[in-house]
Amino acid sequence: MPNSPADIRANLLAVRRRIDAACRAAGRAPGSVQLLAVSKTYPPAAVRAAEAAGQLAFGENYLQEALAKQAELADLPLEWHFIGPIQSNKTRELARAFAWVHGVDRLKIAHRLSDQRPPELPPLDVCVQVNISGEASKSGCLPSETAALCAAVATLPRLRLRGLMAIPAPVAADGDPRAPFRALRELFELVRSTGHAIDTISAGMSDDLEAAIAEGSTMVRVGSAIFGSRPRAG
Ligand SMILES: *Cc1c(COP(=O)(O)O)cnc(C)c1O
Repeated sequence: MPNSPADIRANLLAVRRRIDAACRAAGRAPGSVQLLAVSKTYPPAAVRAAEAAGQLAFGENYLQEALAKQAELADLPLEWHFIGPIQSNKTRELARAFAWVHGVDRLKIAHRLSDQRPPELPPLDVCVQVNISGEASKSGCLPSETAALCAAVATLPRLRLRGLMAIPAPVAADGDPRAPFRALRELFELVRSTGHAIDTISAGMSDDLEAAIAEGSTMVRVGSAIFGSRPRAG
């Protein structure tokens, strides 16, 4: 069941404490990691409760659900991030309704988002999504394609390339939970070394944000640890 407003406030505090502790453990400045609250499948009232507790950036995966929520919450100064897979017939609305799009994984999508970003809005902040665990049938470009895709995205006038995003596959119990996040950071450093002023590693969720922060994540995307178990499968 979704949580009450009081639960959401307490959970947000607890997640912010986890982030701060992970930053300290990694010798990183507290505040070097942004929290994106993932509100997919949760009702507008849950977003309102989080906003009342000081959270302004929210992530959504499903376009129609996100647009309905945005309409109900238009009175709040929220920053919306699209973090789901992108279909090319949805780019026009994505380019209009979001501040960030995290799942850019092919050039065709990037071109459409740039062409369709309304002129009165600032450039759209984007991350290139990397299939860091090399899973078949998952979103994201291959690690080996990442630098070239970033170079092409960076030339598009109405996009601002901010960095890389990934959703690593679960690591086996005897594996190193930091390994996929380390691989993502190494790719980030490779892209940055080619002259792109990127500043964002979007990685880490409710169950693995500590491992992500230990390896340099700058934006964790957290849903269930804030809002409770999902009303339906996300
Ligand atoms: C659902 C989702 C999250 C949040 O997952 P939790 O386990 O609920 O924290 C983060 N990123 C993406 C891309 C998601 O789809």
